[in-house]
Amino acid sequence: MTTLVFAGNRYKYEMENVAKLFFPLAHFHFDYEGRCPAADYILFAKEDRPEGVCLSVRADLPGYRAESENTLPAGTPDNLCEEELARQLYRLLEAHTGIHPQWGILTGVRPVKLVQKRLLEGKTDEEVRAELKSRDLVSDHKLDLALKVAHVQAPILSGIRPRDYSLYLSIPYCPSRCSYCSFVSQSVTGKKAVELLPKYLMALIKELRETARLAERQGMRLRSVYLGGGTPTVLSASQLRQLTGAVRQYFPGIGAVEYTIEAGRPDTITPEKLEVIKESGATRISINPQTFSDEVLMRIGRKHTARDTADCFHMAREMGFDDINMDLIAGLPGDSYEGFCRSLLTARDLSPENITVHSLTVKRSSALYAGLGEMEDYRPVQKMMDFAAGTLMAAGYDPYYLYRQKNTVGNLENVGYARPGHWGEYNIYITEEAQSILACGAGAVSKAVLPGKIERVYNFKYPYEYIGQFQDILERKGELEEKLSLLPAAERRRYETEQDL
Ligand code: SF4
Repeated sequence: MTTLVFAGNRYKYEMENVAKLFFPLAHFHFDYEGRCPAADYILFAKEDRPEGVCLSVRADLPGYRAESENTLPAGTPDNLCEEELARQLYRLLEAHTGIHPQWGILTGVRPVKLVQKRLLEGKTDEEVRAELKSRDLVSDHKLDLALKVAHVQAPILSGIRPRDYSLYLSIPYCPSRCSYCSFVSQSVTGKKAVELLPKYLMALIKELRETARLAERQGMRLRSVYLGGGTPTVLSASQLRQLTGAVRQYFPGIGAVEYTIEAGRPDTITPEKLEVIKESGATRISINPQTFSDEVLMRIGRKHTARDTADCFHMAREMGFDDINMDLIAGLPGDSYEGFCRSLLTARDLSPENITVHSLTVKRSSALYAGLGEMEDYRPVQKMMDFAAGTLMAAGYDPYYLYRQKNTVGNLENVGYARPGHWGEYNIYITEEAQSILACGAGAVSKAVLPGKIERVYNFKYPYEYIGQFQDILERKGELEEKLSLLPAAERRRYETEQDL
């Protein structure tokens, strides 16, 4: 196991993140006293000298030895010293592995936020490009993508007011568990889960009512609703009617805003449920293939075929759904570059209004993690993401939201593409943390987006805790209300000042 050794600094977090760009599944030892083992280490040294701050990296890895050094002016702030060491590490590991992570040393999950901030400061695209390229080593290709997304988002973000919010509802149940899933979602095949579901629904509806009252007391304006999970369509048609009826009753303004229901897995969709969704006033649905390869679907634990997905899509179209999203995943186990391209072309030919392309995230809590080798080669995934971008843009889709997750294969991104005018605004609000989210249900996280900071309030993760300690959930709503009461008056525009980002 490689040891990361620190001398004169403790930049563990950033250095580990950059090292993981090249060795995504590696575990490291750490030493903060500058003591290098006999071999297999990387030393990060910071030393104040008369001529300035000397920053150096020395790598002694199996089959590879290299070092680099740079001196910055005396008094250079810590964050800039840390960035300098990150760049040195990146370049050494790039030379060692032949891998060129396209986001450079940017390991944060919201790269578009950095671009938005600079554009708001009045910088031109070229200035933003030059800065992120030299400072963070981001590739031209990714800068193009981030700038495109930022420009699509700008008019939507500029209309946000501080007391705007989106409502999120969580149904943390699925028909079976996908092998890569790290979410708390429960399989509804278990007897206990089936028994708990009606109780869960009752509690969720109560929380919904309290949330509507809270929003009204705080003078908040509803901007979008998202019913997600899990797979909300695991509910029976009558349960779905009960829930969506409660949403309409407590949030009468819903008819004027974007309202998404994740119909997610084709194996849960029936004409009757789609009818209920139609009546609910939902404006968007998601029908998610993930892949159009039956072999890959089976391998990841999905209990439906590619044909089922296409059939559901056609059924929804015939019923008049005119804003449909499809999710695909690049890098699924058993998939290949050619296989992914076929899936993407199939999705494109179906012509939904939105196609979201995720790169595989492997979290420790997923079943898939246990089966991975020490280092998965993510280069085909990079090629898949590039193919998706080129193909979808040529077909008239624009990228409109983008985020990354920790432990994503190759530290790549997830990108939502849409036909102009079909932007899923909720996705922009949540990925850019641009608006407060009032979230209900197990595993849900509410966010109060205050000037200069974001306060989060967490619900219990699992349905049994959520139901069993429901009084606590209501008390947490009180906490959330206290935070929301600190929001500026409703009239002010949110993106007036740089600190709001
Ligand atoms: S459908 Fe989504 S939430 Fe459900 S198990 Fe699969 S990945 Fe997890």
